Amino acid sequence: MASKRKLRGDEAANSAPAVAVKEHREPLADIEMKAEILAGLIKGSKHFIVFTGAGTSTSAGIPDFRGPDGNWTLKAQGRPRTTHANTLSAVPTQAHMALVELQNRGVLKYLVSQNCDGLHGRSGIEAQNISELHGNNTREVCKSCGKEYIRDYRVSGSQPDHNDHRTGRRCVCGGILLDTIINFGEGLPEKELQLARDHANKADLCLVLGSSVSVTPACTIPEAVASTKNAKLVICNLQPTALDDDCNLRIFTEADILMTKVMEKLNYAIPPFELRRKLVRIETPVEDMHNITFKGLDADGTTPLSFIKAAGVEGCRRFARAEPFSLTLRRHLQPGHGELKLTIELFGHYDEPYLEIAHEYMGDEIVLYSLRYNPLVGEWDANQKEVESGMERLFDR
Ligand SMILES: [Zn+2]
Repeated sequence: MASKRKLRGDEAANSAPAVAVKEHREPLADIEMKAEILAGLIKGSKHFIVFTGAGTSTSAGIPDFRGPDGNWTLKAQGRPRTTHANTLSAVPTQAHMALVELQNRGVLKYLVSQNCDGLHGRSGIEAQNISELHGNNTREVCKSCGKEYIRDYRVSGSQPDHNDHRTGRRCVCGGILLDTIINFGEGLPEKELQLARDHANKADLCLVLGSSVSVTPACTIPEAVASTKNAKLVICNLQPTALDDDCNLRIFTEADILMTKVMEKLNYAIPPFELRRKLVRIETPVEDMHNITFKGLDADGTTPLSFIKAAGVEGCRRFARAEPFSLTLRRHLQPGHGELKLTIELFGHYDEPYLEIAHEYMGDEIVLYSLRYNPLVGEWDANQKEVESGMERLFDR
C-alpha cells in the first residue's frame, strides 16, 4: 500500500522506488459496473470537480512519474530518459476530451490539475474553470502587472538558474515575464490554490484521474472532499494511492478507459480534438500607405496567445517574423476596392498548414477570426466576425 504520509514535492522526486509499485488493471466487467456507478454519481451531483495527475496524459505520450517508465522511477534506477515527449505536439486524450464535453454541458464545475503540459487548456477547458497547481510550461506572467501570456513554445528553461523563472521576454507594460512552473521546494500559486480549495469545499463529488495523490499541498484538494460529510471521492489510478482507504469508489484502470465508459453510460459523445485559437486583424490607413497588424488570442479570447510565426500579405515583399506582426503596404487602399490575400504561418506542432485568408478591405477595421483546426482533417476553418466592443483592450491596440 502507498504510504499515508504525504510527500513534499522535493521529497517526492526522490521517493520513487527503483522498481515501480505494481500497476493493477481490473477486469472490464468490473470497470463497466463501476463506470455505471460513477455515471450515476455524476448525474446526481451538484458540484462535480475533477483532480488530474500525470496518468491522464500518459496515453498522449507524456511520461508519468512513478509508473514503470516514469521519470522518477528511471531516476531511482540511475537511468536517463532517452526520449523526450514533445508536450507541444501531444494530442489531448479521450479523458481530456471527455472533461471538455462535461465542462461544455455544465456538468463539470471545476478542474484541478497537477500537470504542466498545458493539454487541458489546449483541449478546450476554459481558463476560469481550471487551477494548474504546478504551473503550465507554455504560460508566462508579468511580474509587474500580472498580465498572462500563452505561447506556442515552452517558456521555461532559457535561464541557467532554474529557480530564477525569468523567461527573457517582457510584457507590453515593460515588466519582466516569469514562467509559471513550480519547481521543487517552491510554494504553489496562491490564487490557483485558493480557487481549488473553494471548489473542493463546495464539491459533492470529486474524481481523481491518474494521480497517486501523494504530493502536498496539491493532494489536500481531494483530501478535503474525502473529509466532507456526504461528499463522494472516486479514485481512478493504476497504482495504489494515499487515499485508497478514504474514497467511496476505487477503480484500477487507465483514465481513457474509464472516461470512455462513463461517457457511454451518460450518453454523451466525446468530441474530437480541435485546435482552437482566435486571430485579430487590425487595419490602419496611414496617409498613402496601409498598415495591417495581426495578434493571436486563446480560444476564450481572453489571453494573448503567441501562435503566429510569420505573417505576410500579397503585394508586400517582407514577411513579419516577430511581434507585433505588422505589415505596411506602400499604397492607399480604397474601401471596397481590391482583395487582400493574407498568409499566416503557424508553429505547426500539429502539422497545421499556413492559414490563408482572402478579404476585401472595407474601411478602418478590427476583425476577429475564430480558428479551428482538426489534425485528422488537416484544414483550417476560419470564421470571421467584427470584433465585440470592449475587446480592443485585450490586444493593446
Ligand atoms: Zn505587465
